[in-house]
Amino acid sequence: MKHELFDLAIVGSAFGGSLLASIARRLGRSVVLIERGRHPRFAIGESSTPITNLFLEQLADRYELPRIRAFSKWGTWQRTHPGIAAGLKRGFSFYHHELSKPWSHRTDRSNELLVAASPNDEIADTHWYRPDFDAFLVEEAISNGVVYVDQTELTAFSEGSDGVHLTGFHQGEPMEFRARFLVDASGARGFLWNQLQLGEDPIEGFPAREALFTHFTGVRLWETCVEDRSDHEWHGSKGPAAVPFPFAPDDAALHHIFPGGWMWVLRFNNGITSAGASVSPELSKQLQLKTGAAAWARLLEQLPTVATQFADAEAVHPFVHLPSVAFRCHRGFGHRWALLPSAMGFLDPMLSTGFPLTLLGIRHLAELMEQDMVPDPQGLESYAAENRANLEIASELVGALHHNLARPAIFQALTMLYFAAASYSETALRLGKYDHAPGFLLRGRPGFHQGLRDLCRQARQKTLLDRDFHEAVTRTIAPINVAGLSDPKKRNWYPVDVADLYSNRNKVDADTQSIEEMLRHCGIPSMPPKKTSE
Ligand SMILES: Cc1cc2nc3c(=O)[nH]c(=O)nc-3n(C[C@H](O)[C@H](O)[C@H](O)COP(=O)(O)OP(=O)(O)OC[C@H]3O[C@@H](n4cnc5c(N)ncnc54)[C@H](O)[C@@H]3O)c2cc1C
Repeated sequence: MKHELFDLAIVGSAFGGSLLASIARRLGRSVVLIERGRHPRFAIGESSTPITNLFLEQLADRYELPRIRAFSKWGTWQRTHPGIAAGLKRGFSFYHHELSKPWSHRTDRSNELLVAASPNDEIADTHWYRPDFDAFLVEEAISNGVVYVDQTELTAFSEGSDGVHLTGFHQGEPMEFRARFLVDASGARGFLWNQLQLGEDPIEGFPAREALFTHFTGVRLWETCVEDRSDHEWHGSKGPAAVPFPFAPDDAALHHIFPGGWMWVLRFNNGITSAGASVSPELSKQLQLKTGAAAWARLLEQLPTVATQFADAEAVHPFVHLPSVAFRCHRGFGHRWALLPSAMGFLDPMLSTGFPLTLLGIRHLAELMEQDMVPDPQGLESYAAENRANLEIASELVGALHHNLARPAIFQALTMLYFAAASYSETALRLGKYDHAPGFLLRGRPGFHQGLRDLCRQARQKTLLDRDFHEAVTRTIAPINVAGLSDPKKRNWYPVDVADLYSNRNKVDADTQSIEEMLRHCGIPSMPPKKTSE
């Protein structure tokens, strides 16, 4: 079957391809969205963050996609799309494990870190249950006028002066598509990477990782698996000597960190929990990671309290083994095509950088398409350069975290760089102060970027002292620390406290009133401090 000439062909209909397809329709383009598989289907990459949700919200506002905007917060998601499964994500929970030892609380909380991303459930982040979420976005694209063709195996690509030509098979029938421009949204080492032999560039200093993951039922709440609860107030308990707990550690992206790797545990509201591990090649060899379920069991044997958490768990999808997680494509664009950031490169699930980078790329491409039906070469070059630079700063930080999986104090100090940059960026962007938050993780602020770089390099030294490193991080984030981070008095539990925002408002050049308005706009109840210096 031969199709008309489309303005845009998108290969891959997961969240990135489908969202871009709807946006392109809003810009008046004719769009064909071509998918190899069929929705709903298992997909990975689930945990959102405040900055992800801000980018999603901004795209939905700019391109008038209100049904998609509802996904940017737990509360509106639950009211607008109750049938689409999701997980409540109030923040990030990290637990540091020693191999073969049960995990237990310490009074100084040196083996845990809880960082809240929201002050309540209503405006909390979410884990996207991708089988439902992606299927919805495809339906939305179709209702916006996108031509959708699934179960299509593309076998050839060619580029001419007037556009691209694709051929393949739909359920055995030959298919042909022509389009003025093509976006490859087919993910890691995807369609064009194979067709054009685009090749890979090593990511300097980033450690090799293998991953093993699936979806489970029957995963217990982490908080019920820890025997010694010492001075901790668990979610919902009301003991008189209770310590305020920032959020329930399971309503979060729960991380188990151990020498040689880490594990994510993400709960959805349909009884399913996504879990997986990213490990070094040495640990992979020891566990024989490619054996799937047997390797998972061997990993749990080394993490006794996590084994309790998974004691009743059953995999509901075959385990997936990724022999090489990180990659970076050598080329990101051509005359008539561009790769989405997720097809251009990926590091590791740590810190959930995949979604925000994909959304930043979609925003950039959409802006180019606003100007021209076919983005011009300079525009595409700046698009690819931005993706590369975003991936690079993320790789420095995520790489340094991976080098410090067995050193909790250094690992925790490094995360403060991420949380400070993310909370500052979100605050500045929500205040409309765009020049304060240039680039992903503030990479356009030379002082902070250089500081982050230096610290990530220092963090590889074996002789580093915890206290010195913590102090150096505290100094580096001081000009952007609007969230009371890196404070030893908090003993690794960081709730959202709007008082921190008020007292640090000068760092974003804001006055009390604009902070108050911003918080009200975000749905955060706030009382400005009584005494102000203004
Ligand atoms: C283990 C793991 C965990 C992750 N966790 C997180 C996380 O918690 N948070 C986060 O922000 N990011 C995470 N990521 C990254 C995240 O998965 C990606 O950023 C996100 O999925 C990108 O979405 P996408 O729509 O661009 O592509 P993908 O989700 O990769 O989807 C690609 C689509 O293209 C289709 N396709 C592939 N090849 C072809 C072809 N030849 N022809 C037609 N169709 C094709 C596929 O079937 C699929 O539908 C994770 C990644 C991995 C590997």
